[in-house]
Amino acid sequence: MATITQLPPGVVNKIAAGEVIDRPASVVKELVENSLDAGASRVEVTVERGGSELIRVADDGCGIAADELRLAVAPHATSKIRDADDLFRVSTLGFRGEALASIAEVSQFRLISRPADCDAGAMLEVHGGRIDEVVPCGSPPGTTIEVRTLFVNTPVRRKFLRTTQTEMGHVGDAVVRLALAHPEVHFSLAHQKRRVYDLPAGESWLARIARLFGGELADQLIPVESEDGGVRLSGYVASPNHSRGNQRMQFLLVNGRFIRDRALQHALSEAYRGLLMHGRFPIAFLRLEMSPEAVDVNVHPTKLEVRFQDSGRIYSQLLGTLRTRFLTADLSTSLDPSRAAVAREAEGAGDPADDARRELVEWAQAEMARNDTPRGISPEAPPLKFGDPETGASDGLLTLNRLPRAWTPAEAKAEEQRRAAAEALYAFAPRPEASTSSPGDSAEAADESSSRTSPAGGVRGGRALQVHNRYLIAENEEGVLVIDQHALHERILYEQLRDKILSGAVESQALLVPEPVDLAPSEAAAVLEQRELLARLGMKIEPFGGDTVLLTSFPAMLANLKPDDVVRSMAAQLAEGGKPPDRRDLLDELLHSMSCKAAIKAGDRLTPEEIDALLEQRHLVQDSHHCPHGRPTSLVFTREELDRQFKRT
Ligand code: ADP
Ligand code: MG
Repeated sequence: MATITQLPPGVVNKIAAGEVIDRPASVVKELVENSLDAGASRVEVTVERGGSELIRVADDGCGIAADELRLAVAPHATSKIRDADDLFRVSTLGFRGEALASIAEVSQFRLISRPADCDAGAMLEVHGGRIDEVVPCGSPPGTTIEVRTLFVNTPVRRKFLRTTQTEMGHVGDAVVRLALAHPEVHFSLAHQKRRVYDLPAGESWLARIARLFGGELADQLIPVESEDGGVRLSGYVASPNHSRGNQRMQFLLVNGRFIRDRALQHALSEAYRGLLMHGRFPIAFLRLEMSPEAVDVNVHPTKLEVRFQDSGRIYSQLLGTLRTRFLTADLSTSLDPSRAAVAREAEGAGDPADDARRELVEWAQAEMARNDTPRGISPEAPPLKFGDPETGASDGLLTLNRLPRAWTPAEAKAEEQRRAAAEALYAFAPRPEASTSSPGDSAEAADESSSRTSPAGGVRGGRALQVHNRYLIAENEEGVLVIDQHALHERILYEQLRDKILSGAVESQALLVPEPVDLAPSEAAAVLEQRELLARLGMKIEPFGGDTVLLTSFPAMLANLKPDDVVRSMAAQLAEGGKPPDRRDLLDELLHSMSCKAAIKAGDRLTPEEIDALLEQRHLVQDSHHCPHGRPTSLVFTREELDRQFKRT
């Protein structure tokens, strides 16, 4: 047990500070991290009303000496670092000395602790920042912290807390991440006297994964392991028949800390390229161990992001390890048979899994022969380019991708589905002109209708040209139009859907067999909380027990997307929340993402008929100039401008 000291201002100023306590889950995270730093072998978390009434974390760790209790709740007081240099070799989860102080500031706080070598414990209470005297009290060795009425003295904050279910969902997520990172520790979580988790200490990592995420998934995991430049990578990735529509099931643990890292998530996706359908993400549980000096954890207020000294090399290590591993794993047998069958149908012959695998094998063999290193990729990884997060388009990612780009059957199938989706959407009956103007924008509408007189939204002169599978070039009275195909289609769908919702006429299809969808605790809670709203969007959802919800009907306009994917991504979006839960804003947000999903993507090749259909609908929308995200859908180069540029005037 090291002594607690207050950090000098010079060190305090070097700390990446920020808002750390924003909801009960962040209190749970900070308290449990403290227990783990204290070497606890048992951590018990008890929560009432989603944590807004009570959070209690009890551990059997090293404890705090009675004469240091007041220091523990003082700002910038820590036993974990001493000077600024220590910031670059942090081996504990905490180091800023801020958490207890900021929690005690906004709650009714009680700290009871007893170091193992003391006969008695001591207690300290803080009420909304007012610190009481330390009093002796009975206590088992270890520390118990109780946080009651969170945000007691910041009513606005308290008002922004979501429902018990939602907050509890976030608490569950936080505990899952910590428990996953520390299988050596016994964890329990109870809510309203009900036990949510009880995870025995010392289980194997796989056993803990199975306990948290189910045996069916755990059984299919592929172990991976490698070491490079002092970085040890170990863990499990799921076979391609277990995938998700988002990246929430990608757990990256760096020295026992759960982190998010876009580059490493990208490496994961790269490793599965050709093995997963477009828009699907792999599941992974990966641990990276390295010396504390090799990673800067002092870059993000909640420490969710870190900075690696040599991120390019770690990227290559992850990608290379997985690729090498996939060569020896028999992925073909583990490919989802139904998916394989569908793809086979599309292809007419040949096992798609084999094709994908053969491609991968050929690529990897060539690559290994070239580099003569098992990691497969040169250590100085080229700079990363990411796909457009807005469109989800994944082009521009090819810097590291050396797979032949001929479509795999799976991709061909995905392509076909996208195309079918596009076709189905074009089939929407055009709206009567009158309904295109709504109060407030009548002037604009009137103004625009003049330019709508010619067919295809003022576009004339025959067919538009598609370039880079992304833009449409067309001509109109004014000059030359460059249209962003995704942005335009998204706008069209957005307005169609919005009108349908306003008139209560969203076509919804009851599913013949209701579909159960497994979600993270916070997601399940968020979805159930917003059931009514989702129903207005044509998505009917019922509770199904645990973190599973039952989808009973689905919007007809999304018929070509996988229902469980759509539910998962809506759920992720709802759970992320953060914004004030104004129903109209939320509805609008969901509308955006539904139309974004259903729209053709940048990168989709369009047939001439599809191009025509898209331009045809252009004049039906109120604002064909901007996508719902506010980005322009088209740019105009006027004739005058062109003439001027070409020095014709
Ligand atoms: P930090 O974890 O960044 O040091 P905190 O405000 O979370 O800052 O905690 C302040 C100090 O209180 C810690 O450095 C540690 O010495 C002590 N402490 C907090 N929680 C515990 C605990 N559960 N067991 C033992 N010591 C604790
Ligand atoms: Mg701490």
